[in-house]
Amino acid sequence: MPKEIHKGITSRPPVVVIMGHIDHGKSTLLDYIRKSNIVEKEAGGITQHISAYEVTHPDEKGVVRTITFLDTPGHEAFQAMRKRGASVGDIAILVVSAEDGVKPQTLEALAAITESKTPYIVAINKIDKPGANIERTKQTLLEAGIYIEGYGGSIPSVPLSAKTGEGVKELLDMIILVTDLETFTGEKGKSAEGVVIESSLDTKKGIAATLIIKSGTLSQGEFVVAGESFAPVRIMENFLGQKIESATFSSPIRIIGFSALPKAGDTFVTVGSKKEAEVLVTKAKEKPGNEERGAPQAAGIAVIPIIIKGDVLGSTEALVHELKKIETETVKLKIVDEGAGAITENDVKQLSGTPGGIILGFAVKCDPRALELAERQSVSIQTFDIIYKLSEWMAKVITERTPKMEVEEVQGTLKVLKLFNKNKNTQVIGGSVQTGKIGVGDSFKILRRGAEVGRGKIEELQSQKIKTREVTEGNECGVQVESKIEIAGGDVLESFSVIIK
Ligand code: GDP
Repeated sequence: MPKEIHKGITSRPPVVVIMGHIDHGKSTLLDYIRKSNIVEKEAGGITQHISAYEVTHPDEKGVVRTITFLDTPGHEAFQAMRKRGASVGDIAILVVSAEDGVKPQTLEALAAITESKTPYIVAINKIDKPGANIERTKQTLLEAGIYIEGYGGSIPSVPLSAKTGEGVKELLDMIILVTDLETFTGEKGKSAEGVVIESSLDTKKGIAATLIIKSGTLSQGEFVVAGESFAPVRIMENFLGQKIESATFSSPIRIIGFSALPKAGDTFVTVGSKKEAEVLVTKAKEKPGNEERGAPQAAGIAVIPIIIKGDVLGSTEALVHELKKIETETVKLKIVDEGAGAITENDVKQLSGTPGGIILGFAVKCDPRALELAERQSVSIQTFDIIYKLSEWMAKVITERTPKMEVEEVQGTLKVLKLFNKNKNTQVIGGSVQTGKIGVGDSFKILRRGAEVGRGKIEELQSQKIKTREVTEGNECGVQVESKIEIAGGDVLESFSVIIK
């Protein structure tokens, strides 16, 4: 039971994120914890994978405690969420392989963790491997400025094997210890608020999103509002896919029936009625700075949202440089994110809801789950091993996506000799075709002393008193036109057609 700290405010279970260098074992650790700590008969009910789960673990007094894990390894998601101001993880686990020690992405993850002041635990993983060396790994941690307990610092570290499970219990113990030290709080009595961690479009069911409640209680009949979308709390499931009536803090839940795709990292609030929800959505749409969410761009300019993944961060910087070179006046490339490591589902999620998004991978692999999701969300993924191939491909996309422009092409000019009569907007004039041709249905500009004074359309043409469809250069004709501007002798009518270039 959560203990009451202050009127209505209680401690709540921690939400844990797992970060670290690629291949150091983040997914394996998440899998191990999921498999060994969710009671099997419950897990049997899982019909839909959602990217968070809850486990239970007894504390030192034997009290069963809950821990929520975000099942989205990698710091991309964490950073994407942080960019949107959301802090979803209460505790971070920094996974470091005991074979390799600290690596570039360990440092990136560390930077994100320390910047957000998230308490963290170092998991020294793969201790079952013959090449594992815990002492040497600790040395690399110290060199990286990670001052662990027992080495003059206070950062807890736990040696473990995500494969055999050795040390995982100690990690869970440590998570509970840190939770008790930090005391994360929430208020059950108020309406729920929290963070969107993923969203997806199911062709049959509609738009679903996974949310983590950070405070309050969410119940059937209420409405959640996240960014520019809302959903009635009608179809609500827990992480096992079971229908639930209400949920409270730190729980991952899935709600189906959003009006639009909310984004990972959007915060959500709860209101009591659909009307209130709609008002909030309208407000969110009006808020300036909404280009981020894929608001329409200035006419004639196309923006391509891009995520770049490289083998190392340095390579993505080079790629951004290359891409900026091939950007054009009318097609802009918007680098939504860049990072090192394989292309993951998180990358795809970041682009969901922004049409036309592209993920470019350079010398990296693509997670099959990312490919699947990309297909469903119409995000395109391309990987390359040679920079110029990537630029070439991108240049082709830029050409394809260059906005089509309407261009007026002059067909012919007619010198107006006389205005015969005018009735409302219909005028009958006499003139002579000076260049090209004019035809029935053509639009024209009225040029007076070289300047455009108005526009009109040719309704009828007569040449030598006979109705005709077209009169060519050198011929005189009678013309019935439609124009709001009164045409006068001496004007030039320049007929044009609109072509798309
Ligand atoms: P991630 O990129 O950090 O998510 O790394 P993965 O979880 O995909 O692990 C990378 C590789 O290391 C996989 O082949 C895992 O089976 C392996 N691995 C992860 N943890 C351990 C461990 O504790 N012991 C051993 N022997 N292998 C591990």
